[in-house]
Amino acid sequence: MMRKPIIIGNWKMNKSIHDSIIFIDELGKDSFEIEVGIAPQMITLPIVNEVKGNVLVGAQNANDHLEGAYTGEVSIALLQEINSDFCIVGHSERRQYYNETNKSVNDKTKLLLDAKIMPVVCVGESLEEYEAGKTNEVIKEQINNSLADVSIADCVVAYEPVWAIGTGKTATTQTAQEVCKFIREELAKMYSQEEADKVRIQYGGSVKPSNIGELMACPDIDGALVGGASLEIASFKELINY
Ligand code: PEP
Repeated sequence: MMRKPIIIGNWKMNKSIHDSIIFIDELGKDSFEIEVGIAPQMITLPIVNEVKGNVLVGAQNANDHLEGAYTGEVSIALLQEINSDFCIVGHSERRQYYNETNKSVNDKTKLLLDAKIMPVVCVGESLEEYEAGKTNEVIKEQINNSLADVSIADCVVAYEPVWAIGTGKTATTQTAQEVCKFIREELAKMYSQEEADKVRIQYGGSVKPSNIGELMACPDIDGALVGGASLEIASFKELINY
């Protein structure tokens, strides 16, 4: 099964409009054998879209309601209107700081698919859960509830152990592969092996130019979701040219 690798940089709440344009304009002029995406701050999305070239540009979040009285939120309809290529949902920072639940992740995923925007659905266990040997249990629950009743082949799933995000600690390649394989097995139970084999699964958590090669060589890892190492163009370019 050939799945096109996909590496996405999540800029979180970093970079000015000016710096975002310069970065994406330069990156977008390159051609890639894989899919390369950047999720900048929401307000810059329609602006960098103008210069994105070969880069996919997407959002870091959107609301789980179609429209209405949700002060400060951004609708998926608006993301569709500005041609957002993808949207990250269920990032652990959103689950942790903004009470995002598997139910809201599932609702967002469905709305995104209706709007033909690719959902990048994040799952991952906390340090406590990891140390208690509960990784598979937690991942199973997140996968079953966040990804129920969706067109699964159109989703990207990102496995991001929370303890490895921004900490410099990476899961060993073996652990990352084992959990990504487990995710695919769960998806096969929920859907079918054929559908599960089409899903691209990313690993995220302190991915750097020095470890991307061995991660991408794993049979069930089809890409990476990258925070820190996506902020400098040199390191991000090195990374996507693994
Ligand atoms: C992330 O926040 O999705 C992430 C993986 O961050 P970092 O690469 O900095 O660990």
